[in-house]
Amino acid sequence: MRGILRSRMLRCGKKSCRCHTDPAFRHGPYWYLYWRQGDRMHCRYIPPDKVEVFQQAIAARQALNAGIRKAHQDMKNMRWQLKGVQMQMAGVMLEGRAVV
Ligand SMILES: [Zn+2]
Repeated sequence: MRGILRSRMLRCGKKSCRCHTDPAFRHGPYWYLYWRQGDRMHCRYIPPDKVEVFQQAIAARQALNAGIRKAHQDMKNMRWQLKGVQMQMAGVMLEGRAVV
């Protein structure tokens, strides 16, 4: 699930409604999903009963991304360790040769 969820408090169409004069009386929250496609931002209204599903999907994606980032970092660290071991081995072999 790509994108982010944002809630908005909105004013209604009724001019007499208090939401027009006092921000505390605005309606909502209304939830929207924002996502980028190419260089354009898109926005879609999410009905209240679907908000939780979308939040979970987004959280799951973030957890996966974090896992992938960590795996990349671990791999980088392991490559460095491997390089260190290889250099140690090369050193030991050179020493061995020097002794013999
Ligand atoms: Zn209103």
